[in-house]
Amino acid sequence: MGKLIIPIDIATKVLDYVKEKLPEESCGLLAGSDITVTIEIPITNQLHSPIKYFMDPMELFKALEMIETLKLDLLGIFHSHPKGPPRPSETDIKEFLYPGVATIICYPDSNNWKMKAFLIEHDCYTEMELVIE
Ligand SMILES: [Zn+2]
Repeated sequence: MGKLIIPIDIATKVLDYVKEKLPEESCGLLAGSDITVTIEIPITNQLHSPIKYFMDPMELFKALEMIETLKLDLLGIFHSHPKGPPRPSETDIKEFLYPGVATIICYPDSNNWKMKAFLIEHDCYTEMELVIE
């Protein structure tokens, strides 16, 4: 999987959620079919920290169950970097648990918030083609 498509209304909802949670890092899941995201599921950052996140395990469990019930696939995990950088941190790489699932980083770029998608494998990352349409 080298490409991910996020419809613009879903991308907007994710970035609105991320901005609403500032100054904390926020996180959640993106699910859909093939390479297209069809739903976003925000998950509480249990750490309520501006520099790290940990998805609330009960919310995560329920979200994964819902994705299965809807017969969708987990395509990505998003989280924000309120102070950058616009790429996975060393901790993100070290603690990544979902091979094949995209890591979406939301970050501020002057007055705008943007997102980039990455694949984390073998202790390194590669940027994916992210289409927001
Ligand atoms: Zn991170």
